[in-house]
Amino acid sequence: MNDVAALEFTRQSAQPLPAERRAELLAMPGFGDTYSDHMVTVRWSAEQGWHDASVGPLAAFSLHPATMALHYGQTIFEGLKAFWRPNGQRALFRPADHARRFNSSARRMAMPTLPEADFVAALEALLRADGDWVPRVRGHSFYLRPFMIAAETHLGNRPAEDYLFAVIGSPARPASSATPKPIRLWADTEHIRAAPGGTGAAKCGGNYGGSFIAQRQAAANDCDQVVWLDARERRYIEEAGGSNLFFVESSVHGPRLRTPPLSGTLLAGVTRDSILQLAGTLGYPVAEEPLTLDDWEQGCLEGRITETFACGTARAIVPVGQVVSAQGQWSVGDGTAGPVTSRLLEALLDTQYGLAPDDFGWMRLVDTDLEED
Ligand SMILES: *Cc1c(COP(=O)(O)O)cnc(C)c1O
Repeated sequence: MNDVAALEFTRQSAQPLPAERRAELLAMPGFGDTYSDHMVTVRWSAEQGWHDASVGPLAAFSLHPATMALHYGQTIFEGLKAFWRPNGQRALFRPADHARRFNSSARRMAMPTLPEADFVAALEALLRADGDWVPRVRGHSFYLRPFMIAAETHLGNRPAEDYLFAVIGSPARPASSATPKPIRLWADTEHIRAAPGGTGAAKCGGNYGGSFIAQRQAAANDCDQVVWLDARERRYIEEAGGSNLFFVESSVHGPRLRTPPLSGTLLAGVTRDSILQLAGTLGYPVAEEPLTLDDWEQGCLEGRITETFACGTARAIVPVGQVVSAQGQWSVGDGTAGPVTSRLLEALLDTQYGLAPDDFGWMRLVDTDLEED
């Protein structure tokens, strides 16, 4: 991080959920259906810049019907996790990288940027207040959702002049068990997620709203997620729903990882970047090279592509077992998690849970308030 936190957060404690009820929720967290006691909010206006930073009880916003975010879609978000460490500390995974991506989304959407140090300070403020919400079981984690919306009340079709930044948190279900269940991907050749020059590289709300129709189609074809193809030719693989894709190519020289390059139409996943770095440590060569849907199918049929996995913050690494398209379907390998996928997943989780040295300086330790330890 190249800046110093400037915001001072006022703090108002929430009436915490009774410890027993919290324990019940932590024992069986879903994803995004349970929230911790507090939230962080910070306001921005053209005159005052960032101001009114606070940590307070989680509460509903009151929005005027002409709030610009509701009409023109200036909304961006991030998603990252905090993990319980063997020494009782909590640690955020690569928060500065999420700060940088948040700001690049903000620039694309003509929204104000938040200094990286303030973004990280906001995450830490929530984690300090809600440290008891970080589950203590490997695989479980605390998901933080920073986001920003255009908060000005106006119907002018232009960038807003007031914004609201907030962070909420939610305990999250196991990222993956030792052998995560392989997913089935639906190759959509009808819709596109992003086109060159568009917003595909930004984590902005509209990208998701525009993709749900294909997700529905995927579900109708008994698939878990969509694999998106490029807008121009509908041939090149881009990514899968909210995750990036990796292919394991095997030859007499051993396995090699291949992933589509950051062309501007896919989201630059922090998990993707982490895997590119971990692969080096584990001795797997990596290539950021385009791959067509046909080459993927041929590669699988001929045994050149032996594994494929999806990666993202929410589920870490998940193997892809089958691919389905309007033309037919095929299996990747024998349809189960392969050895390279499993090794990368273990290496990633070991780093996150503090069981392996943090060689890349990814973990940011945060001391939190705890009721009891
Ligand atoms: C968030 C996201 C990813 C994964 O990014 P991570 O930083 O690894 O969580 C991939 N694709 C899309 C479309 C996303 O929104």
